[in-house]
Amino acid sequence: MTQTPKQPADSENTPKPESKKTFAALKLPPDLLAVVQELGYTHPTQIQLESIPLLLAGKDVVGQSRTGSGKTAAFGLPILSKVRVKARRLQALILCPTRELCAQVAREMRKLGRRHPGLQVLELAGGQPIRPQIFSLEKGAHIAVGTPGRILDHLRRNVLDLKLVSTVVLDEADRMLDMGFEEDMEQILGALPEKRQTVLFSATFPQSIEVMSNRYQLNPIRVAVDSGEQKSPAIRQIVYEATAEEKVETLLRVLQDIKPQSAIVFCNFKIVVADVVKSLSDAGISAGALHGDLEQFDRDRMMAKFRNRSVRVLVATDVAARGIDVEDLDLVVNLDLPSKPDTYVHRIGRSGRAGKVGLAISIATTRENFKIEKIEEFTGVTLERKRTNHLPLLEVKSAAAGGEAAMVTFMIGGGRKDKMRPGDILGALTGEAGGLEASQIGKIEIHDHFSYVAVAAGISRTALQRLQDGKIKGRFFSVKLVP
Ligand code: AMP
Repeated sequence: MTQTPKQPADSENTPKPESKKTFAALKLPPDLLAVVQELGYTHPTQIQLESIPLLLAGKDVVGQSRTGSGKTAAFGLPILSKVRVKARRLQALILCPTRELCAQVAREMRKLGRRHPGLQVLELAGGQPIRPQIFSLEKGAHIAVGTPGRILDHLRRNVLDLKLVSTVVLDEADRMLDMGFEEDMEQILGALPEKRQTVLFSATFPQSIEVMSNRYQLNPIRVAVDSGEQKSPAIRQIVYEATAEEKVETLLRVLQDIKPQSAIVFCNFKIVVADVVKSLSDAGISAGALHGDLEQFDRDRMMAKFRNRSVRVLVATDVAARGIDVEDLDLVVNLDLPSKPDTYVHRIGRSGRAGKVGLAISIATTRENFKIEKIEEFTGVTLERKRTNHLPLLEVKSAAAGGEAAMVTFMIGGGRKDKMRPGDILGALTGEAGGLEASQIGKIEIHDHFSYVAVAAGISRTALQRLQDGKIKGRFFSVKLVP
């Protein structure tokens, strides 16, 4: 369970050296310095180093940076440094392209806001019932994170008061444009106070982003991380050539070789996803599917299981994986190469976060060669081509692959609205009441009306009993194993 995933030995990429500067040098207020320390952020990432001082000084910033660079904290810490919790009015608005990204950003903002008691961070994403959002807005919130369409919807219903919004962030602006949110964004920006700070983050810089920046920002300062080599992150990129029939077997051999704790396998078509999951499960590797046909609830549940390590390999399509939020991904596999090079860049960008060297392995037929060439041209990086005979042979029953998940997930029928906190669940499982070791308990996620807790697979029965027999916060909550 403590296996570390293997990097191929002759890796040429070395992790980017961490900056020597500390967060203290960035002039953040003491409570926020304490928070970053508690979260274990020892040094600011490059985008944080460059943009936080500018944002604290009230400048408009246009930042080029991808997910995983620490950009949420880069704009989040300055927002938190000036939020006034006592004024229960909306003070910052963050626009994101997808619901998943909204959830991810809101989660990070709540983490960073842990020393702001009473702070309300609201998710206003589409594809969710609107009534509870309106209700929460009426109660008052300080920071809203939403998708453009839904924010506009709230504006039209007159439930969103933007008068005191002093900072607006357009996160992944290029993708919002790609997804057709241009007009919505225009309308929202038009409804904001003129005197405000406008922050724009984007992974790529097509002309349309320049146009947006010129139109909506005042003397913006451009912050580019790794300018020049922006498109070649610290990710080792390998291609194995295989016939279409050999692809799944090659995937199994790759997984046996690397033994990742957490990996995503991308497929171009959703009809393939279920087959791949079945092949992995048959080989004893814990795998789950993520594709557009799943209900939102099932997608969320799958993502929770993947994040807390109850599922090790997530097999996904691009649409379903949009804005996916996972930390510490060891490996991204392209079972098919995407036809657009920027999709490839988005996919592999999920590996190698926050300074770690990532690993991206593509399995391609000779007919996909032209896609490799397009990718190489686009990124300016030559992919390493390898033959499958470099991979270990397939073991018949690959228990040796360490394929079983280390964790299982329970769902508890109480959440944020029931004032449930991670400590309540941890308390019910450990200490005198529960008797289990804290080290056997994994990630705890509190949602509005329910919570997830991951526990070591070996103690799942005991843990279920403790949760069912004991009370949490003096009450009985329903508890069930998430299949
Ligand atoms: P983001 O680019 O905002 O999606 O952040 C990627 C991940 O890096 C998140 O899980 C953050 O919690 C984490 N992170 C952000 N800043 C730092 C830092 N200075 N040091 C270590 N981890 C960080």
